[in-house]
Amino acid sequence: MAKLIYFYSAMKGGKSSILISIAYNLEENQQRVLVVKPSIDTKGDDTIISRAGAGRKVDFCIDKEESFFSDENFSKIFNSEVIIIDEAQFLTKNQVEELWIISKKLNTQVMGFGLRANFKGQLFEGSQRFFELADEISELPVIPSCKCGKKALFNARMVNGKYTMAGEECVIDGSQSEITYEPLCGECYLSKVVLPENKMYFKRFHQ
Ligand SMILES: [Zn+2]
Repeated sequence: MAKLIYFYSAMKGGKSSILISIAYNLEENQQRVLVVKPSIDTKGDDTIISRAGAGRKVDFCIDKEESFFSDENFSKIFNSEVIIIDEAQFLTKNQVEELWIISKKLNTQVMGFGLRANFKGQLFEGSQRFFELADEISELPVIPSCKCGKKALFNARMVNGKYTMAGEECVIDGSQSEITYEPLCGECYLSKVVLPENKMYFKRFHQ
């Protein structure tokens, strides 16, 4: 029986290169692979690019309002044996439910690759539904590290070089400020991002 699997890491966890090599290996073994990406992620348009420079074209992008069960999408899904989702945290909970149904009813393996939590330290809508429904949840073997050397689990947002917990989950390109992300371990995320934003916590732990 096919599984719904979620592979997660913090940012810079090598997701793209693992995804590209899994798709390549499956196709080499004559499996019909479909690579899908939520259209909210605009940075690489319709190509997934790893930091090492490997690339893989996406078979289709899916909008927030769109269903995997639409006539057009479903015919592609029906003809594939493995579905791989890039940036799977950006799927809606309905879309993850559809993938779960597809894995069970069509016996199609579905692998989502995504982040665990957003810059506020909370699950994304898509990652939450994967955690609830997936047959297997697995942390990627390439684990990003925090500057202190520990394993990074959080993605801190920096606006003009300063940590922040404010703002929308997804910042659309064209914003005036420079927004970057930094993978941090739990302890550094707490000390650098969470405590400075909360006077009560800060008072207790920073004399
Ligand atoms: Zn750290």
